[in-house]
Formats: sequence, structure tokens, C-alpha cells
Amino acid sequence: MTRGFLGLGSNLGDKRAHLKAALAALGAIPGLQIRRVAGIYRTAPLGPVAQDWYLNTVAEIATDLEPAALLERCQALEQALGRVRHEHWGPRTIDIDVLWLENFSVTSPGLTVPHPGAHLRSFVLAPWCELAPELRLHGHPLHYWLQRADPLGLAEVK
Ligand code: ATP
Ligand code: CA
Ligand code: CA
Repeated sequence: MTRGFLGLGSNLGDKRAHLKAALAALGAIPGLQIRRVAGIYRTAPLGPVAQDWYLNTVAEIATDLEPAALLERCQALEQALGRVRHEHWGPRTIDIDVLWLENFSVTSPGLTVPHPGAHLRSFVLAPWCELAPELRLHGHPLHYWLQRADPLGLAEVK
């Protein structure tokens, strides 16, 4: 089993329900186990598109799936949960990003791991730091990156 982390976000409709549904569905995928889930954080949206605030969290997984297959399963789940692709960084019922996989690194158009934006985004780093503050990205632990990230109005929600 390979250890990994997934980032989940929602900014449409019942966001908390979308996160919960995605986590339940991920845990039901053969060869994928959800090990731990961080708290849920609220942030202002990133990027040029006017849209509602986000709820984000991070899950630690253990998986037998190859990285490309894992991404495919995540994307199929996004579709199943009603994500409609309008524009990059636009609103979505659910977004699932592969943040990091143990002993794995790739840069290709379809899949970049570690996720290229993760170390700069407080809404990823704050939940992720609950689970793995000492995990290193680009030569520094996650808590180092979290201290330097723009908070973007980040707040944990109960
Ligand atoms: P960002 O990737 O900056 O968070 P986004 O999540 O809004 O933006 P999407 O529209 O969900 O972007 O995905 C765009 C493409 O990113 C996908 O088609 C997918 O192939 C690619 N991609 C590359 N690396 C990853 C990764 N680590 N996790 C998820 N998608 C990835
Ligand atoms: Ca994303
Ligand atoms: Ca995505």
C-alpha cells in the first residue's frame, strides 16, 4: 500500500455534504482506504472567477492504485457527484486533487505530483498540517509553507 494525501474542495450547494459524500465514495473504491481526515476549513475563492467561498479538507489515504488510475477514479467521482466543468478554477460541487504520493513524483500535462500549487495554498496546507506537519515538500516541512502562505481568510469551521 502506498501512503498518499488527497485535497478536497467544494464551493457549490451543500458543500459539507459534498465533502462527506466524496470521502465516503473514495473509501468505497477497491484498493483505496481513507486513513484519516483533517478538519474542514473555509476560504475565499482563488483566481479570477467570481464565485462563492470554499470548504476544503485533506484526507490521508493508503492505496494499491497506480497514480494515473487514482486520478481517474477521483475524476470519475467528481463527475458522479455532479461536477460540471465550465472554466478552470470556476465553481464546483467537488474538486479532488492528488496532493502527494509516497516515493512518487511526476510532471506531465495530465498529472503532476506533488500537486504544483499545494505548498502555496493555505486552504490545503492548514488541513494537511493537522495530519502531517513534518512532511517535506520542495525541501521544507508543510508547517514552514503554511506560515508563509497567504491566509485568504482561512478559518476552521466546526
Ligand atoms: P488546480 O489544479 O490549480 O487546483 P483545479 O483543481 O481547478 O486547479 P481541474 O480543472 O480540477 O483544476 O483540473 C485540471 C487538470 O489538472 C485535470 O484535468 C488533471 O488532469 C490535472 N492534474 C494534474 N495534476 C493533478 C493532480 N495532482 N491532481 C488532480 N488533477 C491534476
Ligand atoms: Ca484544485
Ligand atoms: Ca482538480
